[in-house]
Amino acid sequence: MRTGRVRIGGRSFPVRSLNTVVIGSGAAGLNAAVRLHRHGQTDIAVITGRFGAGASAESGSDKQTYYKLSLAGDVPDSAADMARDLAAGGSMHGDIALAEALGSVEAFFHLAGLGVPFPHDRYGAYVGYKTDHDPRQRATSAGPLTSKLMFEALAAEVRRRRIPVYDGHEAIAVLTAGRGPGKRAIGVLALDRAKAGGPGRGFVLFNAVNVVAATGGPGGMYEHSVYPESQSGSHGLLFEAGAAAHNLTESQFGLASVKFRWNVSGTYQQAVPRYVSTDAAGGGEREFLNDYFPDMGALATAVFLKGYQWPFDPRKIAGGGSSLVDLLVYEETVVKGRRVFLDFRGDPRGDGRLAPFEPRHLGPEALAYLERSGALTATPIARLRKMNAPAVALYKAHGIDLAREPLEIAVCAQHNNGGFRGSIWWESNVRGLFPVGEVCGTHGVTRPGGSALNAGQVGSARAALFIARRRAGRPLPEAAFAREAGAAGLEKWELAEAMLGRGKRRGLSPEACLAEVKKRMSACGAVVRRPAEAGAEKARARELWLRARREMRVPSASGLAHGFKAIDMARTPAI
Ligand SMILES: Cc1cc2nc3c(=O)[nH]c(=O)nc-3n(C[C@H](O)[C@H](O)[C@H](O)COP(=O)(O)OP(=O)(O)OC[C@H]3O[C@@H](n4cnc5c(N)ncnc54)[C@H](O)[C@@H]3O)c2cc1C
Repeated sequence: MRTGRVRIGGRSFPVRSLNTVVIGSGAAGLNAAVRLHRHGQTDIAVITGRFGAGASAESGSDKQTYYKLSLAGDVPDSAADMARDLAAGGSMHGDIALAEALGSVEAFFHLAGLGVPFPHDRYGAYVGYKTDHDPRQRATSAGPLTSKLMFEALAAEVRRRRIPVYDGHEAIAVLTAGRGPGKRAIGVLALDRAKAGGPGRGFVLFNAVNVVAATGGPGGMYEHSVYPESQSGSHGLLFEAGAAAHNLTESQFGLASVKFRWNVSGTYQQAVPRYVSTDAAGGGEREFLNDYFPDMGALATAVFLKGYQWPFDPRKIAGGGSSLVDLLVYEETVVKGRRVFLDFRGDPRGDGRLAPFEPRHLGPEALAYLERSGALTATPIARLRKMNAPAVALYKAHGIDLAREPLEIAVCAQHNNGGFRGSIWWESNVRGLFPVGEVCGTHGVTRPGGSALNAGQVGSARAALFIARRRAGRPLPEAAFAREAGAAGLEKWELAEAMLGRGKRRGLSPEACLAEVKKRMSACGAVVRRPAEAGAEKARARELWLRARREMRVPSASGLAHGFKAIDMARTPAI
């Protein structure tokens, strides 16, 4: 990497010239960096808003899953079968599905080799289990924090290989040259937060042949979200660069706690807690599910099944299916403005019509499961402790004692199954720009649980291989780069100056802008959408984005990254 300075609009800015810049330090971004380095392409760097931020490093669930080809047992499997299953849910290309299936074994063993503790037996069998939308037993898990363990193993490898990481750097533009089909990425403009107070406002340019965008999902667009607070997304960057997206409407939603963001899947539901709602002030408590099920057996079985049918699925609503529970929670919270809690302290009480819960009310599958787990005890908390004591300890570690207080939940956004389009080498329509990980829309509508982590690993590995073999050239000479990047750089500079010039009073604050994006997306673009409302909302979203560009204000230079982020977030729903 060469460092120097370039002049744009009469000002001088630092520039780093290199082969590939990776934006984002989640499991996908770090894997891209490690793979590039392993293939001999060492002229690379990672830039990240915060090392340790993002869904990989900061989220998890009851049993966080990695999906790969079956590697144990006597059930035959093949890459073609796995590809068929990946694509079966729709909105997924067969060739991408095949590449993900074929690459899954190598990607999995790469992680195992770096020390991710996936469980195996003494013969070396990585025994699998069945996850949602999985006809085989392809899923495996290193526990509730599988993706964090992946992040840590990859981060250690990045450090071991001494790959430069620019921490505290927020990318605010993907720089491009050319037009139409000839458009290509030439680098990234970032804000170095530590230098925001200086005369250059922290602007740093990366002059690169390739840009790997591993910026994750758009978690910050929703009021109810189980993405970590640190993961807001940066889709606006790629839209601005002209990258094409598809299937953006295909997001995954499910029940999660809101005070501490965590999916209430698996044993949290299999323990059959009481679902209660209250008014905003905590009064008027009622067991709202009672009104919608014919008897306690149907209600308790739907709750139990929610454990392993966690994502909301419209096909599982009719006939008292498990997704009816999500819909009823949505109705209480969003439509009626009430609050919903899981109360583990006592069994569902029923009402005059529904009998109080007893385990014998459960369907045969659920009853047999609790029997086998030795969890046919009174109270949900006792059942949960018996089946999964760490699940109780986890909340305790975050200041919530499930034995003493109810747990507030909502239907939350968890994953975007759509995103930016890529080739079978994860290259977008903009040459040299590679979206990998969640930001890349390869996931399909009903992806098997765990396939997101696999898609991120396989996609970033394939992008790295392609770059190392086919795009190993040198970046532009600095003067040529400054000419190509000048207009975009100047536009961002003027936007930054305008945000600062509005001072503390005039204009739109980043907080107000983000609150409006979240409110609108949760009302019209989340788990329940009405086409007419969504259409009208799109026009309003565009107005908000244009207003954000015109009126965004930040009180000081340290707020610039936040201001740019708010404009980016406003742009995404406006597309
Ligand atoms: C609660 C929860 C449970 C999940 N469970 C599973 C599961 O069991 N199995 C499964 O397969 N998947 C699961 N997922 C999905 C999976 O965790 C994500 O798809 C995956 O971790 C995304 O990895 P990534 O590297 O693409 O992005 P992330 O890990 O989100 O990383 C994005 C990175 O980009 C950085 N960044 C973003 N914008 C910028 C910018 N402008 N400038 C600089 N840096 C930027 C962020 O700081 C971060 O470092 C779950 C997700 C959640 C939220």
